[in-house]
Amino acid sequence: MAKKSDPKFIFVIGGVISGVGKGVAASSIGRILKDRGLSVTAIKIDPYVNVDAGTMNPTEHGEVFVLEDGDETDQDMGNYERFLDTTLTRINYMTTGRVYLSVIERERALEYKGKCVEVVPHIPLEIIHRIRSAQKKADADVTIIEIGGTIGEYQNMLFLEAARMMKIEQPRDVAFVMVSYLPVPSKIGEMKTKPTQHAVRTLNASGIQPDVIIARGTHSLDEKRKEKLSFFCNTSANRIISAPDVESIYDVPGNFEKEKLSTLFCDILSLPCPAKKAPSALAWNSFVRSIHRASDEVRIAVVGKYFDTGDFVLADSYLSVIEAIKYSAYAQNKKPILTWINAIDFEKNPKKVEMLSQFDGVLVPGGFGSRGVEGKMKAIRYARERKIPYFGLCYGMQLMVIEYARNVLGIKSATSREIDPKSKHLLIDIIDEQEKKLSEGNYGNSMRLGAYKAYVRPGSIAHAAYGAASISERHRHRYEVNPEYIAEIENAGLVFSGKSPDGRLCEIAELPTKVHPFFLGVQFHPEFLAHPLAPHPLFTAFIKATVSRKKSKK
Ligand code: GLN
Repeated sequence: MAKKSDPKFIFVIGGVISGVGKGVAASSIGRILKDRGLSVTAIKIDPYVNVDAGTMNPTEHGEVFVLEDGDETDQDMGNYERFLDTTLTRINYMTTGRVYLSVIERERALEYKGKCVEVVPHIPLEIIHRIRSAQKKADADVTIIEIGGTIGEYQNMLFLEAARMMKIEQPRDVAFVMVSYLPVPSKIGEMKTKPTQHAVRTLNASGIQPDVIIARGTHSLDEKRKEKLSFFCNTSANRIISAPDVESIYDVPGNFEKEKLSTLFCDILSLPCPAKKAPSALAWNSFVRSIHRASDEVRIAVVGKYFDTGDFVLADSYLSVIEAIKYSAYAQNKKPILTWINAIDFEKNPKKVEMLSQFDGVLVPGGFGSRGVEGKMKAIRYARERKIPYFGLCYGMQLMVIEYARNVLGIKSATSREIDPKSKHLLIDIIDEQEKKLSEGNYGNSMRLGAYKAYVRPGSIAHAAYGAASISERHRHRYEVNPEYIAEIENAGLVFSGKSPDGRLCEIAELPTKVHPFFLGVQFHPEFLAHPLAPHPLFTAFIKATVSRKKSKK
């Protein structure tokens, strides 16, 4: 076997503006290198001071993506796991807060042996230490490091400094990619390169020269502008990659390969890349083809609340849910059409809930707090009574249990401690261990987080979907179905078909198929485990139910 080359590091940095798909570009670079037979891992750096993304409002920051080990991270981590078909851990995620916290803790533990601990070099050295640890843990040939924010911001300077220091240490093993944006001002109608030229100069001022420029824009980059960028940014034209808007983010790796980007990285980093693609490339290509082939629609209503920011609708808060639906739909040759419904609308106008009859399925995703819960429960009741396939995720499962207790068992004041702690009927209550943390005011990290095992009852919908009795899923919640009510609820027909191994905690609730075609909720977040090349079995079961409903409506 050929000797493994030294580990390589690719830093991805944003220029001009944020929000142009730096995370997708970085994930796609990982994908094309993986398809050349290399092992790849990824690191996301968020420059904010929060130690993790757990305490942030989803409308502020998008989805909180939970890793196997319970780390609460940025949604880009989800893109990495999905594009690379891999599992990442907390060492793959870094924030300014996290880096400073380690340095300060080490200083308090006298680990710097009486030295003066300074911002430079000690902070960049800690960053480099973390990057190397992530590489070692994965034994990766290539480690992709996405530095959050855009060049010129004060916030990400120390991360750039760490990247520069690594390049000095091992010039042949480190490459820099700038993901830039080329606007087309409407009155001029011509793609402008000047903002990118400025961004590269600002990057140069940090001591970094980009090896590759990814030129994002609404259109492809023409030769003339490629040459102009090459001239003014000191980068040869074949290293400037045109990256126009695409229909699906999963088209990006294929587009990069049209510009021979994986071969370019192999040259820049002297990587042994076999000319023949790895078998994973075939699987990826067939997934991408399935996206464009799907034409038959299934219509799904997502009833949630983290949609509004000012005048805009932000579906980012549920990114993994959207992707999980897509993978299961594409695998069945279906095109999912998602409609975002603000639960509060059903509270303001209860009759509006009837609009749900037009849909093939209803989904209530995870959530927190009491705003919108009554509207969500109206949607759940409607789906249950009209036999519309229903899938409840986390809060969507808890509210499904409350709705059942209220309207089937007749416990009218049934609720969750999160909604009304004074109620006599807390169907959903706090888990003992979490109560202690909360009473101490420790909100960060106070939830049941990460992967836990569960057992699934044979004969249930869930068991048929998983094809197994033992499962492991990722969690992020404080509250649980109150064990005191389990027998009463089950006697009334709702089955707890998934339980924690000690039998104490309810993980899955469902109605038997003879009562309802698909009425199922899970205490965990299956969306975090759905991958393009491995759709999640419960989403697949839900989509199958929506397809059957669509057929029966005809
Ligand atoms: N708010 C609920 C809890 O904390 C559900 C959490 C969620 O949906 N992620 O238990």
